[in-house]
Amino acid sequence: MNGYGGENNMQSLKELYKIGNGPSSSHTMGPKKATEVFRDKHRDADKFKVILYGSLAKTGKGHLTDFIIKKALEGYQTEIKFDTKFKCTVHPNTFDIIAYKNDKVLDMWRVYSIGGGSFRIEGEKETLIKEIYKQKSFLEIREYCKKNNLDLYDYVCKFEGKKEISEFLSQIWEVMQQSILNGLNAKGVIPGKLKLKRKAREVFENKTEHDIEDKTKIRLLSSYAYAVGEENACGGVIVTAPTCGACGVLPAVLYYMKQKYNIPDEKIIKALAVAGVIGNVVKSNASISGAECGCQAEIGTACSMAAGAVAYLLNLDMERIDNSAEVAMEHHLGLTCDPVYGYVQIPCIERNAVAAVRAVDSAILSSMLKEDSLVTFDMVVDTMYETGKDLSTHYRETSEGGLAKKYCNNKFFCD
Ligand code: SF4
Repeated sequence: MNGYGGENNMQSLKELYKIGNGPSSSHTMGPKKATEVFRDKHRDADKFKVILYGSLAKTGKGHLTDFIIKKALEGYQTEIKFDTKFKCTVHPNTFDIIAYKNDKVLDMWRVYSIGGGSFRIEGEKETLIKEIYKQKSFLEIREYCKKNNLDLYDYVCKFEGKKEISEFLSQIWEVMQQSILNGLNAKGVIPGKLKLKRKAREVFENKTEHDIEDKTKIRLLSSYAYAVGEENACGGVIVTAPTCGACGVLPAVLYYMKQKYNIPDEKIIKALAVAGVIGNVVKSNASISGAECGCQAEIGTACSMAAGAVAYLLNLDMERIDNSAEVAMEHHLGLTCDPVYGYVQIPCIERNAVAAVRAVDSAILSSMLKEDSLVTFDMVVDTMYETGKDLSTHYRETSEGGLAKKYCNNKFFCD
């Protein structure tokens, strides 16, 4: 354990689902938020210096980390350094921020951007955010619900307040749907030297006269996931679910289910709560950071959240929800994070589409498996965390291995 996995109880779903601009929750949202808090503490400073380490130093350019920090410090003299040599021993997304006045250091924070837009300051246990749930594992939650005759939505309402959380989730659902519509209506090229063409609309319209049911399912789910993933890559407004890079999976699946089964928004909002509990279990027991545990922690978690939501929408019981989330995560184990040029584009956007299809399939498969599974969601979350720790840093959001390396080693593509 590194102090980030397994030692915390769950926080509010408001700390998981965050509305903001892409492309990266750990490389833009988290650093931006931390910088703003630090800046507001030192309004009298005349200069700020930021030193990015680890994954932030290696893929910060592609993920726009320096751009967003400069923006947060607009009006101040700002120096940003990329230190790729420093060994991050606590978290791979580390940065220092220093405030100066008349060339004298006023204060300094070492900040860890731990994924999903959250951050921690060295020396402080938490970022002033309360852990409001008492249970830690999914099994503990299941047992609590069984004892108190609650479903997962009731469980969330009990700890977060029904009115407050349903209003919050309604807003989240609005933004998710809007990001799908924005992405479907947009055309053109995603910013960056890959010059990647937006594909959501093209996939959505790829309808043939005899569209078989399977193709329709893949076409719709993928186009919705592409739409949100492309919005994220273009810096549009999205919801972290659980991160920016994996933000397309859950909205795509919920939108698909809503359309296909004519499900009212009130029920979708409950499914969002279910997905949130699943994401929170991963966030507090393992990690949702690609820099810490690879893409299994981002896309794998998003797929589990979406699969659990589908199971809930299909009125499956708690065991099947557990199993759906487990199946979805299990088959992402070992998935590396290797974004080409450090952009949240290749393989990220397509990965959202594939995971959306897999989430629906996982829940449907689970509905057919009547026996209790030998592997639980908690087990697979622990496994994901251990696997992530064993992954070479080349495969943890550094763009030093995998597709990122292959693409840039290829003379044809090399710039
Ligand atoms: S490969 Fe996965 S974890 Fe890495 S940036 Fe892309 S979506 Fe995030």
